[in-house]
Amino acid sequence: AEALKPLETRSTCCYCGVGCGVIIEHDGKQITGVRGDPEHPANFGRLCTKGSTLHLTVQPDSLAVRALYPELRTNRESQRARTDWNTALDHAADRFAQVIREHGPDAVAFYISGQLLTEDYYVFNKLAKGLIGTNNVDTNSRLCMSSAVVGYKQTLGADSPPACYDDLKDTQCLFITGSNTAFAHPILFRRIEDARAANPAMKMIVVDPRRTDTAEQADLHLALLPGTDIALYNAMLHVMLWEEWIKPDYIAAHTEGFEALRKVVREYTPAMAAGICGLDKKDIEKAAEWFATSGATMSMYCMGTNQSSHGTHNNAAIINMHLATAQIGKPGAGPFSLTGQPNAMGGREVGGLSNLLSGHRDLGNAEHRAEVARLWGVDSVPEKPGLSAVELFDAMAEGKVKAVWIACTNPAQSMPDQNLVHKALETCDFVVVQEAYRNTETARYADLLLPATSWGEKTGTVTNSERRISRVIQAVPAPGEARHDWDAAMDFARRLGNKLDNAQTGKLFPYANEEEIWNEHRESTRGRDLDITGLSYATLESQGPQQWPFPAGATRGKVRLYEDGIFPTASGKAKFVVTEHRETVEKADAQYPIRLTTGRLRDQWHGMSRTGTVARLYAHEAEPMVHMNAADMARRNLKDGDMVRVKSRRGEVVLRLLESASVRAGQAFMPMHWGRNAMSGLGTNALTIKAFDPYSKQPELKHAAVQIEKL
Ligand code: SF4
Repeated sequence: AEALKPLETRSTCCYCGVGCGVIIEHDGKQITGVRGDPEHPANFGRLCTKGSTLHLTVQPDSLAVRALYPELRTNRESQRARTDWNTALDHAADRFAQVIREHGPDAVAFYISGQLLTEDYYVFNKLAKGLIGTNNVDTNSRLCMSSAVVGYKQTLGADSPPACYDDLKDTQCLFITGSNTAFAHPILFRRIEDARAANPAMKMIVVDPRRTDTAEQADLHLALLPGTDIALYNAMLHVMLWEEWIKPDYIAAHTEGFEALRKVVREYTPAMAAGICGLDKKDIEKAAEWFATSGATMSMYCMGTNQSSHGTHNNAAIINMHLATAQIGKPGAGPFSLTGQPNAMGGREVGGLSNLLSGHRDLGNAEHRAEVARLWGVDSVPEKPGLSAVELFDAMAEGKVKAVWIACTNPAQSMPDQNLVHKALETCDFVVVQEAYRNTETARYADLLLPATSWGEKTGTVTNSERRISRVIQAVPAPGEARHDWDAAMDFARRLGNKLDNAQTGKLFPYANEEEIWNEHRESTRGRDLDITGLSYATLESQGPQQWPFPAGATRGKVRLYEDGIFPTASGKAKFVVTEHRETVEKADAQYPIRLTTGRLRDQWHGMSRTGTVARLYAHEAEPMVHMNAADMARRNLKDGDMVRVKSRRGEVVLRLLESASVRAGQAFMPMHWGRNAMSGLGTNALTIKAFDPYSKQPELKHAAVQIEKL
């Protein structure tokens, strides 16, 4: 790797799942600048507006919003007051131990984040499942990627994205669905633009209800009605069958279950799907032709696919098309889920969801539980499934979860059905919030606020969308008394273990630094699909970021999966999943006639704790606005810029109206980022619905029915 100047540190951007490498410029105490790492294979030196302004989020004036020391309140009537770490963690251990003794281990829970590093994630997971004996550890990745996880596992047998960024240069047809890549993954979109410039014959199909910046650049934009994805994909497969564009030899040799799917998709004629999706049947036929007959087709998909009450089958229906046409396991081809958060992948690797275990193991598999128990040196890992995100907050609202530890995430703004989430946080007896920022909506509910280190102050690893592990390296000291998430969690674990008279605690949490945690995680992957036993911190630093699997003896990671046509299932064959069109849970009706979708803006990130502190990031969109079609506005006598009330069955918000041709009649769009401070009401998620997919338990954040009226 290129030698850095003395006060430069190589790390990664902490925003999206593209996982760009950065070089942090600093003076040993203060970060002074940031630039793209020209040697990082995710971005080759490029950064988007968010990444290139990261240094502005950690200037001295940002300390005004940072959590700098622990704060505690011992009753809800008083304000939190400053305390020291010893008092804070002893108090937390007392409260958790009391709840566990009186109500059992499942009365406590942890809600963590895809923005934590892999090492942080590993410690939290072990704390809940190895020490306390509960699987109640879930994460905001449940809102992000869980449908992609289950979609992969049901079809290909493992949660392993087969393709990679480099495949773009060989792709002949790029099928982007449920992703505004230009805004949500900007540096990857630059790579798409480069690939198209180098190969003008390459076709780009974009499936999105809105005419987004991504859709603007498509050769074919399918502006389907929200939630009708499966009807479209099944109809495309119908056309592929009818035209004999499928690959019977590949299907016979490498897959199972095609006959059952064939019978179902026979019904999905292009004319039928055109009616369901609100599309022209010729466009469906054209999309099917390009997808099936190109030399190499790659799909890229994200939240529009995942955040649905049928998100798992949205994913499976895309993969069905790849398997039927053998568009997988070769350069430029394959299904490729894009990760929203910077380390949602790393979290899954260590089993950081309430139904998973370390090393991509399943909680429901007795052998997997025994393997993890052996690795950790405990008698057993609890069998009972933990609560997923929505179930967890429901259980808090019902008084069943009495103590919760929330780290590096802001559910009081990001979870659906905000009124219920706020009730849950009020009802829960003891709320710990471990955060870099003290002004988040969730921090308002903290009985104990613990200051956490943040970007530029932490060390560890992250994994990006293409299975690539990068080192994250601390450049400057922690501000105030902030501590690393894993370190505070481990300190808490040791105190809690003592209070619970658990003699194994010291053995469970022996770590002196991040590398020791990572080495244990590495061992947990031995023989698994994500085996990284050939990697080390030193290798990642000397040879740069690497893709998994990277088993012992390998000299490089696996660029692309399933090139041999063998899949990690019992039979070695991939499985077709029978997918059927289903409506969104909430339909538009006379009272709530507008279909609301939500999504990202180009220059803001999640709940804006960090990007919201940078003035120039408001230049693109200065305030939250609901986007609406001119015809719908005229019908309601609304004008551009009017203040309007947007109301769903769960809540309402007041914000400004933006006339937008990007939204079809009968629909509206709101950015997800703003919360209570910028809107009257609890923000966008006051409107959204908590209904979730039955397999992945990912909520349907993309679809709600609303009414919009002038204030
Ligand atoms: Fe950061 Fe994503 Fe932008 Fe890259 S594309 S600089 S990872 S926000």
